[in-house]
Amino acid sequence: MSRIAYVNGRYVPLREAAVHVEDRGFQFADGAYEVITVQAGHLVDAEGHLLRLARSLRELRIRWPVKPRTLHVLIREVVRRNRLVDGTAYLQVTRGTAPREFPFPKAAVPSLVITARRLDLNPVDRLARGIKVITVPDIRWKRRDIKSVSLLPQVLGKQTAVESGAFEAWQVDDDGFVTEGCSSNAWIVTREGTLVTRNANTMILNGITRQRVLKLIDDRAMAFEERPFTVDEAYGAKEAFITSATNYVLPVTAINDRPVGNGAPGILSQELRQIYLEFAGASV
Ligand code: PMP
Repeated sequence: MSRIAYVNGRYVPLREAAVHVEDRGFQFADGAYEVITVQAGHLVDAEGHLLRLARSLRELRIRWPVKPRTLHVLIREVVRRNRLVDGTAYLQVTRGTAPREFPFPKAAVPSLVITARRLDLNPVDRLARGIKVITVPDIRWKRRDIKSVSLLPQVLGKQTAVESGAFEAWQVDDDGFVTEGCSSNAWIVTREGTLVTRNANTMILNGITRQRVLKLIDDRAMAFEERPFTVDEAYGAKEAFITSATNYVLPVTAINDRPVGNGAPGILSQELRQIYLEFAGASV
């Protein structure tokens, strides 16, 4: 079956799906995006993702291309037309198409693209072994709270990770503290068993999975702290893991080739994945 994309009001086969060469997303990365997991045909935490999109668009002063409720319907329709069971829905909003000038164009209509694709939500090998991460300097701009389509630092970071045999690169600020992964939030479990992830401000993207996991932890009265941690602290941690819409909760078993804890996926990380899976299953 050929894949179907939604582009500015039309459902089209993916190979014919295109935006204008003067779309400001292409010219300036002038846009925002979201990735929503599809589990058993249903969107996971769609409301959280749409709320974050609202925030990104507000901060970038880009108008909604359609009403939020309509957008939700369109995403579900793309999922349905692609007969997607497990995978991801991707949506991107840009400021629109206009002659290439830096200031906002007066007349541009925001562009909206939605695609969907399959993804293995139960990567058995990765879960059994845990993943390796490396660290790279965080070379991004200072508004990482906006989910902007400007992702070059993350492209470079991930490529470095792949070339090092790692799955993710944790970005590190000028003071030696981990900000987050290139497409995930970073967590550790201290020797005392406290869960630690960086506090959300303009220095990181406040992951929807991060927020959900924090809520699930809080509901269970598990100990956690939202604060920065250094790479050294992570080396000495009992466990580490990442969270993201596409990976849920994924154990980290090596950082820069140093084993985390005993080098096997941590107990708490695995427990949190189960807890998150229950939430994702119940939300569908
Ligand atoms: N940080 C960054 C930089 C990301 O790109 C992502 C993935 N979009 C995340 C964190 C995780 O966010 P979420 O849980 O909403 O997927």
